[in-house]
Amino acid sequence: MTHSWYHSIRSADLFGGVPEDYLNIHNWFDETKAFLPDLRHRALRHHAEGIFLCEQVFGITIENTVRQKIPVRLIAEQHIQDDLGWIPTVEDWLCNLEVQPWMTQTPFQPLKKSMLNNKLEPSSQSNNPGAAD
Ligand SMILES: [Zn+2]
Repeated sequence: MTHSWYHSIRSADLFGGVPEDYLNIHNWFDETKAFLPDLRHRALRHHAEGIFLCEQVFGITIENTVRQKIPVRLIAEQHIQDDLGWIPTVEDWLCNLEVQPWMTQTPFQPLKKSMLNNKLEPSSQSNNPGAAD
């Protein structure tokens, strides 16, 4: 499916209510198109772990307009199956990434205290625990 609206229409057919009941969930899955507007955006949320993350964002159930509680997991599974025909894991996506030289040839650069001082709030830089806030 190419648009979250069409996923939402399918959800309303499957679970009841109206497409708008499901649009936020389907938009959440596909909003990663903003990062990469081709099918590879799916690697970020279209997998088993993404389903559980979706539950953390939207809760275990949503209530549709006909006052039915619908498990978010089922809606999430529907989205991924509609797109891919199955539910991959994160490992399935990552194992199919081609390793690039920049992924492995980063020179070791340990974090130095001088680099940290500019990022801490003034009270956090003190060694006196009673001096905070
Ligand atoms: Zn999708």
